[in-house]
Amino acid sequence: MSSLEDTRGNLVVAHETAHQWWGDLVVWKGYRDQWIIEALAEYSSLMQLESQDPAKFRAVLESYQDKLFQKNKDGMPLMDAGPVTLGIRLSCSPFPVGYEAISYGRGTWLFHMLRTMMRDAESKKTGHRASSRENLDEPFLRGLRKLRERYQGKSISTRDVLRVFEEELPPSLWYEGRKSLDWFYNGWINGTAIPRLELHDVKYVERDGSTRISGTIRQSEAPEDLVTLVPVYGTVGGKSMLLGQVFADGPETVFHLTSSMGVRKAVLDPNRTLLARTR
Ligand SMILES: [Zn+2]
Repeated sequence: MSSLEDTRGNLVVAHETAHQWWGDLVVWKGYRDQWIIEALAEYSSLMQLESQDPAKFRAVLESYQDKLFQKNKDGMPLMDAGPVTLGIRLSCSPFPVGYEAISYGRGTWLFHMLRTMMRDAESKKTGHRASSRENLDEPFLRGLRKLRERYQGKSISTRDVLRVFEEELPPSLWYEGRKSLDWFYNGWINGTAIPRLELHDVKYVERDGSTRISGTIRQSEAPEDLVTLVPVYGTVGGKSMLLGQVFADGPETVFHLTSSMGVRKAVLDPNRTLLARTR
């Protein structure tokens, strides 16, 4: 814990520096948009940490999730204080630290989810091999640059942020064929759930030189209409590879993916890119 506290202390400098862009150059529109500024400053500092020490980066993200499960004096988890869009209203007598835990903690996870879904889509598009991490992050970073260019000296709303990232969405991330992040706004930004995701009924069928993988993703401890983009991985020749990204829509979603011959051991999100229950 003490080493994690040291890491947090070091992150403060990067976080406050990042506010030169997110918070000073670009400001938030209303209290419902303030989370964007704290989450972006925090996630910027975490991206710097990730480039130096990926294990610590993971540890900080995990600590944010743990914090959301911490109970208040009435035994309610902090995550129940409300969605990031409640802003400073999150801090109230039942949840005195609600604003910090949700807007920094959940907010940071929201940007991590946005970045990793775009990175995974990019890696499927370009093929996994030669591309460096920087290249895979380019659509997300382009979105951040657009935010700064379009809104410097102005204020942004949550919708403005989504509109910029929607421009960067590849067709594989169009839920129900729409180039829109409404599903992410409705379920994740404007919601409080941390779902449990489980893989069931997995089958592997070899055909025409490839493997067809089918299975069911069960999503529980979440509203019935929650949509989550789940990365599904498999192992081939001892190596883990991304098979595809599946929109888990509600409690049960059947999926079919095709991959190279011999893929086995399908798993959901082994790299923990989703705010989800692991135990
Ligand atoms: Zn801050």
